[in-house]
Amino acid sequence: MITSQAGQQPADFSDVRATNLSVVLRFVRANAPCSRADIAASTGLNKATVSSLVAELVDRRLVRETGPTEHRIGRPATLLVPDGAAYAAIGLEVDTDHLAVVAIDLAGVRLLSWRRAFAGRGTPAARAVATVAALARRAVAKVIADDREVLGLTVGVAGMVDSGGTVRLSPNLGWRDVPLRDSLVRALDEPAYPIVVENNSNLAVRAEHRYGPYAGAANLVYVDGHAGIGAGIIANGALLRGGLGYGGELGHIQVAADGPRCGCGRAGCLEAVAGVGALVRDLSGREPADLEPEVDDVLRRARAQDRAAVDALRSAGEHLGYGMSILANVVNPEVIVLGGYFVPLAPWLLPAAEKRMRECTAAPDAGGCRLAISSLGHSAAATGGAASILDDVDSGALPIANRARNEVARL
Ligand SMILES: [Zn+2]
Repeated sequence: MITSQAGQQPADFSDVRATNLSVVLRFVRANAPCSRADIAASTGLNKATVSSLVAELVDRRLVRETGPTEHRIGRPATLLVPDGAAYAAIGLEVDTDHLAVVAIDLAGVRLLSWRRAFAGRGTPAARAVATVAALARRAVAKVIADDREVLGLTVGVAGMVDSGGTVRLSPNLGWRDVPLRDSLVRALDEPAYPIVVENNSNLAVRAEHRYGPYAGAANLVYVDGHAGIGAGIIANGALLRGGLGYGGELGHIQVAADGPRCGCGRAGCLEAVAGVGALVRDLSGREPADLEPEVDDVLRRARAQDRAAVDALRSAGEHLGYGMSILANVVNPEVIVLGGYFVPLAPWLLPAAEKRMRECTAAPDAGGCRLAISSLGHSAAATGGAASILDDVDSGALPIANRARNEVARL
């Protein structure tokens, strides 16, 4: 399949108002509290247009007025701040050892954040899907009970997800062709809000891009370290999904032809030699359902200078650095953010990874690429699921609250 160039296109005339609404909304979010005059001065829109756009944003409960400023010269201006409390975006992530769900309102306030253990590897797909659906239902019910409208539900899965929301392959969960989106639509009674299923790392990188210390970086990669290794790549400001959405499978780049067997069926993949699942397996000799206590054990051993643990971490770090050099050579990111269990293990992984990345990247100074540690915790993908919905609103997909809609209908 040949795809034509997509992405940022100039606004069609009919889209001008929607574009301007999102310009004003983004300005208010970035500069609140601000006045209508501030918006006009900074965006170049005339004052009458700004007033009309603000009135619509207030009607849609996306912006609200707050008290007039006391510190300005001349007539006091009514100030505007983001509202968005009427809406919630829900993100959920499915990994081999946990489920997480996060809800965020349009003003960026975190409304709920739940995490629960989940034996993803040993659970048959149909039962796992029912568990995911039950958690999604609970989160939706909580949001609605708090008198908010659900903007959307985005679910991240550690695996390759097609554009229809079917998980084509997840070596670590043991899933093949699991129609997760369709199952969730049925389980949630065909809701009015959109349900999207995506790869976990593709969502986590959107969380970093919106909330992390490198927010807004045009070239940013997130490398997820749970049982496997996945990468979410933002290049030139846009998520790099590729033709069918399977881009970023960094974990299955072969780094050792005669290396250990990988869950994908090949041998010597990066995640088979540098993944946290592989590291734990090598050091403990077992295949744990829950990685967290095993990673704690690896950390204890590393702190005690246990030779096997320190050597295994250095070797994993070197392989990881080789993987980073491929990213640096092909994508030239400004920063690669390591997440998941790579965060606590970073003091042992990073020195070797950084050295190998510099050795194997052709451009001087690794093309300016820095390695960094995520601050978003284990629910980065769930946060990114919610963030992706908020990104869509910022891009012009503005919602209208039921309550506002009903008020308009009564007029
Ligand atoms: Zn593999």
